[in-house]
Amino acid sequence: MCDCIKILEEKLHERCLETSFKKPFESVEIEQAFVMTGNVMTTKTYSRAIITLTGQKKKIDSNIMHSHCPFCGEKIADPETA
Ligand SMILES: [Zn+2]
Repeated sequence: MCDCIKILEEKLHERCLETSFKKPFESVEIEQAFVMTGNVMTTKTYSRAIITLTGQKKKIDSNIMHSHCPFCGEKIADPETA
């Protein structure tokens, strides 16, 4: 598995340290979903899908897990096939 998330979080951290916020900067993280495969918990990036139903004001939020890293394209292996 690639290190894109870790590398990007480090770069974002550096950028945030140079940015003026209204309050002191504490930390930054790239949002990921926890995925349970068998007995193994892993994290994956995802895209948000918003489902609209006719006659219903409240939209339904859904997540589509990425099978490949969105930054470098490397396949994200499931724990049992890694
Ligand atoms: Zn990657």
